[in-house]
Amino acid sequence: MTKSVVIVGGGLIGLSTALLLSERGAEVTVIDHGQLGGGAARGNAGFMCTTLLEPLAAPGAVKSAITSLRDPTRALRVHTRALPGMIGWGLHFARSATQKRYVAGRIALAKLNQRHGEAMSLLGSLGVDVRLGPELVVPFHDPALAEHYLRALAPMADYGVVVPTELIGGDELRRIVPALSDHITAGYVVTGDHSIDPRVFVDSMIAALRSRNVTIVENAPITAVGRAERRINSITTPKGTLTFDDVLLSAGAGSRRLGRLFGLRVPVIPGQGYNVGLPVSEALSHPVIFEEAHAVATPFTDRIRLGGTMEFDGDTPRFDQRRVDAILVSMRKFVNLDFDAHFGTWSGSRPMSPDGLPLMGRPHQYDNLILAAGHGMFGLSLTPTSALALCELIIDGTSSIDLGDFSPDRFTLAKLLRAS
Ligand SMILES: Cc1cc2nc3c(=O)[nH]c(=O)nc-3n(C[C@H](O)[C@H](O)[C@H](O)COP(=O)(O)OP(=O)(O)OC[C@H]3O[C@@H](n4cnc5c(N)ncnc54)[C@H](O)[C@@H]3O)c2cc1C
Repeated sequence: MTKSVVIVGGGLIGLSTALLLSERGAEVTVIDHGQLGGGAARGNAGFMCTTLLEPLAAPGAVKSAITSLRDPTRALRVHTRALPGMIGWGLHFARSATQKRYVAGRIALAKLNQRHGEAMSLLGSLGVDVRLGPELVVPFHDPALAEHYLRALAPMADYGVVVPTELIGGDELRRIVPALSDHITAGYVVTGDHSIDPRVFVDSMIAALRSRNVTIVENAPITAVGRAERRINSITTPKGTLTFDDVLLSAGAGSRRLGRLFGLRVPVIPGQGYNVGLPVSEALSHPVIFEEAHAVATPFTDRIRLGGTMEFDGDTPRFDQRRVDAILVSMRKFVNLDFDAHFGTWSGSRPMSPDGLPLMGRPHQYDNLILAAGHGMFGLSLTPTSALALCELIIDGTSSIDLGDFSPDRFTLAKLLRAS
């Protein structure tokens, strides 16, 4: 029997899952309150990673967040107006920000992405442009910090991740990326991680969906949800009422708000980031992450995209030009580019869960609802394997990718109160 699935939220996760579901013979409808890909799908930094994956909840992150309440230029910034809506989320975040849980989070992400190559090939075979750019370079001013970051990658090696093992010097790094400043002393190349142009990736995905006659309903905010006991029966938008077998909620940073319409508490809040374009330069042909500045530079054919910052400012974050200026100022110390010619500033939000891991699965309240939210800072990188897992969960009832670490029901009061 053909299964009908409605997907709410046409971003990276919703669109990729729609494609795989359609390939498995499901009748798929994607609805979005705006345009497909209008969330973070096109504006992200384009790092397609299997190695650098990490939760935001790291040791020291809570202190950093508190300090930021009074400093608008810090890379991690919490606004006071966001605090009331962050209490439960913040407690779970603080609980997750221990060394032990941070490492466990990295390993969970590495395991989720173990079949990244296979999942990318599958998307490619269905018409998605999965061509990768060059390898990722991670340069530092401070060699001790470089060593610290390098060592932090080590636990992921047990899960099939290619981790660099040795630091290389500043001159060697400048040979690879001539734009790096003379202050760079050490760093490494991450051969498992690459750039991809997210605009090309998502646009090719949308084209593939259209060619398969997947029903797409844009600019359709949900106005009513029909429920009966453990089932969601219908969804109404100004464009009509839909009925279905299963519904997938994949609304990115809008997931908490969307969840409320379905009677769900989804602890996913927007973490706003910014990017700004610079003219292309032959001196920067590799994607680079500047961990000391918490900022990145990614070369695309039409621009170098500088990006960074994590700003918590409630459900509807405001644009703050000072954040963009801070990225431009911090980058000048690391890389020689034409900063004065910057253009095309953009802001958008990452869907942030408290522990930095996505929520994927069936919340206990419903039999026919699947949640896929909270992919955070690495949702582009996690898209192919998440789509694979979600598609299997919907069609087969279970996934060959272990989703145990990603239960949507894991943020309970009992867990908060548990000591270890
Ligand atoms: C500045 C920045 C840089 C990033 N860089 C990287 C990177 O380099 N590498 C990486 O792996 N990841 C990166 N990410 C993260 C990545 O982009 C996200 O994790 C990813 O887009 C999440 O996918 P999603 O489908 O959950 O959400 P999105 O792609 O944001 O899509 C959500 C969709 O849901 C829709 N929606 C929202 N609310 C509703 C509603 N109520 N009803 C209907 N539709 C709704 C939106 O319109 C949108 O189309 C970055 C993100 C940002 C913001």
